[in-house]
Amino acid sequence: MASSSDAGQRPAWTPSSWRKYPISQPIEYPSRKALEDATQQLRSLPGLVTSHEIRSLRAQLASVAQGKSFLLQGGDCAELFADCTPDKIEGKVKLLLLMSLIIIWGARIPVVRVGRIAGQYAKPRSKATEVVDVPSSKPDGSITTEKKEVLTFRGDNINGFAADQRIPDPQRLLTAYFYSCTTLNHIRASLGSGLADLHAPLSWTTSHVRSESLAKQFSHIVSSLTDALDFMRVIGAESQNDTVSKLETVDYFIAHECLTLEFEEAMTRQTVNAKKQESAASTPEAASPPFYDLSAHFVWLGDRTRAVNEAHAEFVRGIANPIGIKVGPSMKPDELISLLSIVDPSRGADLGKVTLIARFGRGKSQTHLPALIKAIQSSPWSKSVIWCCDPMHGNTISSPSDPSLKTRAFGDVLTELTEQLAIHAQNNSHLGGIHLELTGEVDEYGESVTECTGGAMGLEDSHLKMRYRTHCDPRLNLEQSLDIAFMISNALKS
Ligand code: PEP
Ligand code: MN
Repeated sequence: MASSSDAGQRPAWTPSSWRKYPISQPIEYPSRKALEDATQQLRSLPGLVTSHEIRSLRAQLASVAQGKSFLLQGGDCAELFADCTPDKIEGKVKLLLLMSLIIIWGARIPVVRVGRIAGQYAKPRSKATEVVDVPSSKPDGSITTEKKEVLTFRGDNINGFAADQRIPDPQRLLTAYFYSCTTLNHIRASLGSGLADLHAPLSWTTSHVRSESLAKQFSHIVSSLTDALDFMRVIGAESQNDTVSKLETVDYFIAHECLTLEFEEAMTRQTVNAKKQESAASTPEAASPPFYDLSAHFVWLGDRTRAVNEAHAEFVRGIANPIGIKVGPSMKPDELISLLSIVDPSRGADLGKVTLIARFGRGKSQTHLPALIKAIQSSPWSKSVIWCCDPMHGNTISSPSDPSLKTRAFGDVLTELTEQLAIHAQNNSHLGGIHLELTGEVDEYGESVTECTGGAMGLEDSHLKMRYRTHCDPRLNLEQSLDIAFMISNALKS
């Protein structure tokens, strides 16, 4: 089995070289042949995104690394195929737009928007099996439940949530591809039809904001913005074509955890930069064009699959996409530097190539983050990495009233974010972005989900069951997310 923690000593990378490395979170498919048939079909399908778009994100992330823009990542913990509805998709996109508007307006800094969407299906799990209650009929015709040990749910692209659908089915990889296409198509079409038009920001779900103080703060932004747009119209500044397009739509990129390597490999293509091709026919890039993972603009390594000498790190080292690495409490400074030596062959020359997504938990960042920041500062990556805070994954708890429900306290999320902002400031570093699990979706009465406690609406543990919709980790709702956006906007301003 291959290993080597120095990229220079590793055998040449190919989209399938990860197969020679040990892998965490493997999926055991009952039929290799069925898996090969499915991935063969995926290989012949078009990419979900283009290398041109990926390069555009790379350029925007370079600006984040330099402290000139802010990265806002957010979406579901796990998307479900059943969640591919116009309302739910728009609920997520609009929320990220609202949050970015709050940050841009307050802190006067451009925001790079990256959704956990259009492919965020696969989930790492701590156990391979679990015991669930399965309905069964008794001889007298009545229904009872019995306990059964089944494989854990690994995400809609792998197996089904229902207890009788837990065997991994490779056809789901194809189904996931088509759901990603549909989701992305709806996002592209909505943005192209004025969803992000700055002339009409009030239509972005603000009527659902139940907190008076948040609604007031947001209306203040909208009326100031309307005044500014009016002023521009009067002086004729709006009539320039480029200005019009910047006011009417925005860039919105998609991302997911790089977990299902069979899928990622099948979506990885060697693409020539059509614009550069003519002028630089003899450059090394023309001789060997870069490989792009066209399943998303941005992919990240999860905290459980980021081991230096394992398959997931090997896969991402060869793709030209910008990548993320989740950094949890078990990450050691020298391990982080070894991992960067593998996954970033440019050794820090590509600004914004790697985003470090730190997630320690409330009260724990001070123990872990300063040493990691120092290791980066004395490495070739001192100027190139983006530090991003994920204040969600270190703060998951069981609900005191029902241990089967996972929840997060808004206060813990906010505290970890505040702590990480302060640690960067104290260590001559800066926080470049935030990674959140959130949703702006509302029910038929316009009410937000109730998955995390606290926030402007004072959600209590006893409220969780009212509209608890996630099948995976609990998400911030509309009001809680806007609260975070105002907090970031204030922090970046000062
Ligand atoms: C996630 O982002 O949903 C996740 C599983 O995170 P982590 O890898 O940080 O645990
Ligand atoms: Mn999660």
